[in-house]
Amino acid sequence: MSEKTIFKRIIDGEIPANVEHDDEHCLAFHDVSPQAPTHVLVIPKKEIASVDAISQADAALLGHMWVVIGKIASELRLGDGYRVVVNCGKDGGQTVDHLHFHILGGRSLSWPPG
Ligand code: AMP
Repeated sequence: MSEKTIFKRIIDGEIPANVEHDDEHCLAFHDVSPQAPTHVLVIPKKEIASVDAISQADAALLGHMWVVIGKIASELRLGDGYRVVVNCGKDGGQTVDHLHFHILGGRSLSWPPG
């Protein structure tokens, strides 16, 4: 069996995280290396490696995660705007093979990204 990802270890309570939201389906916690004043990661508890691994069976889960993203943005007072980023694969800059949404806010974000 392949080794657990760092995010699976957070889900399993093996390593600590600064948790912002926790429910049956997903977990949100602050990024350890924040790229903006607010930088939260939202991950499914189901092990999905990347956007490429999402299937139709995950549609309700993904919809739920978007609702959670909006709720977190509201709770963290990102009313001036924020960005949700999903890196996929090597060229997309994905470094952890467990699907995650970055919520970035608290400053003006430039476009396009690098
Ligand atoms: P990505 O490059 O899109 O795969 O994003 C992975 C993110 O996970 C990076 O922003 C890392 O800073 C973050 N990260 C890695 N390990 C941890 C951890 N133990 N707790 C919180 N965030 C982490």
